[in-house]
Amino acid sequence: MDCVVIGGGIIGQTIALRLGAAGHGVRLVAPAEEPHMASTGNAGTVAAYAVDPVGTPGVLRDLPRLLFDRASPLAIHRPSAPMLAPWLLRFLGQSLPRAAQRNREALAALLAGIEDDWRALATEVGGTGLIRDRGALYAYDTAEAAEAARPGLMRRRALGASVEMLDRAALHALEPALPEGRFGGAALFPGTLWFTDPARMLALVAARSTATRIAARATGLARRGAGWRVTLDSGERLETETVVVAAGAWSTRLLRPLGLRIPLDTERGYHLEFDLPEGDQPLTRPLCPVTRGFYFTPMQGRLRAAGTVELGGIGKPPSPHRWARLEEGARSVFPDLPAPARRWMGLRPSIPDSLPVIGMAQPGLVLAFGHGHIGLTLAPKTAALVERALSGRETPASTSPHRF
Ligand SMILES: Cc1cc2nc3c(=O)[nH]c(=O)nc-3n(C[C@H](O)[C@H](O)[C@H](O)COP(=O)(O)OP(=O)(O)OC[C@H]3O[C@@H](n4cnc5c(N)ncnc54)[C@H](O)[C@@H]3O)c2cc1C
Repeated sequence: MDCVVIGGGIIGQTIALRLGAAGHGVRLVAPAEEPHMASTGNAGTVAAYAVDPVGTPGVLRDLPRLLFDRASPLAIHRPSAPMLAPWLLRFLGQSLPRAAQRNREALAALLAGIEDDWRALATEVGGTGLIRDRGALYAYDTAEAAEAARPGLMRRRALGASVEMLDRAALHALEPALPEGRFGGAALFPGTLWFTDPARMLALVAARSTATRIAARATGLARRGAGWRVTLDSGERLETETVVVAAGAWSTRLLRPLGLRIPLDTERGYHLEFDLPEGDQPLTRPLCPVTRGFYFTPMQGRLRAAGTVELGGIGKPPSPHRWARLEEGARSVFPDLPAPARRWMGLRPSIPDSLPVIGMAQPGLVLAFGHGHIGLTLAPKTAALVERALSGRETPASTSPHRF
């Protein structure tokens, strides 16, 4: 079968690799550069334990405080607020107890076995040297906060996540360079994988793929006989039997003219990188100071602090105060970090229920976007589901593009 994949992030590239390996002819369309694509600057964790959707009753309860406190890890880009209202309303609905539990169960099903899928993919592309598997930590400021988090963590365990609670001493034994007493307790997700360079992993996936790469932006998508026509900003037109739309946060721009209205928006995320020679890393595994909403991830030659959420749509410049808050949060744990060497803002493609949209929307039109906070994690699973959809096999109802 002849396929055009639109999007060169981890989702599009993994799909192109998988479809090529299954014997399909694949062309991959993506602009040569997209500084705000999410797949390069993320926290690099394969978060099999991330079964909680973003919208939960707890978030709903705290939302006013989170949104209007400038220091909080969740912010709204004020000038964009009116445009974001429809997404936010759906998000509120998805945060109610029943919906949140349904979304949690669907996420747990998607995440099952994902570490094995990533190990297999990394082996296939020659990327095992970029993988570490020492687990990841959620760190709580006080012992009371750790205790308060326990029921939620046990709910994750019931859905298949491995979790161990650590007291202050056990955390210190595991990460001795953490300032003593900074955290009162932690949750360890043992065996969690992470990548020491997500951009390099993406490059390896792309290099292994048999897809023909076309450096352009898709500007139009239209039915053409039994197939599809993709128009590019270069003026070129590609005729194809099937199209896979995997353009992250940008995906729905191409779909609106086809009458497909999918509630995709973006949660803008930020990172700072602190250059540190090997051996000077203060952590041996990713650690999330929970109240700050970001991860420290030890990466090659640097410590990356990546995360936080700013609801802000596409096309607006980054908010410098979000980097300032991130740096303040990083220094609240490690006061002696050097000045940040790099800073970045990227667009998470986010759906109000935190479930990605994967599957056939119309004959020959497959959608694969909306992975929010866990797109790196879910890339191999998504590619396998897209391959299923193209071969006419069913994809799970929870991922169906028809649920909206
Ligand atoms: C701060 C931060 C931390 C994160 N941490 C983690 C983590 O630890 N673990 C995890 O699993 N996930 C994490 N994520 C989420 C993860 O990075 C994303 O879910 C994932 O990268 C989305 O991949 P994607 O391929 O769908 O989108 P993107 O990576 O954004 O790629 C979209 C692609 O589409 C292309 N494109 C856009 N428009 C067009 C067009 N018109 N025509 C052709 N191509 C187009 C772009 O150029 C780009 O190549 C994090 C995200 C952020 C921001």
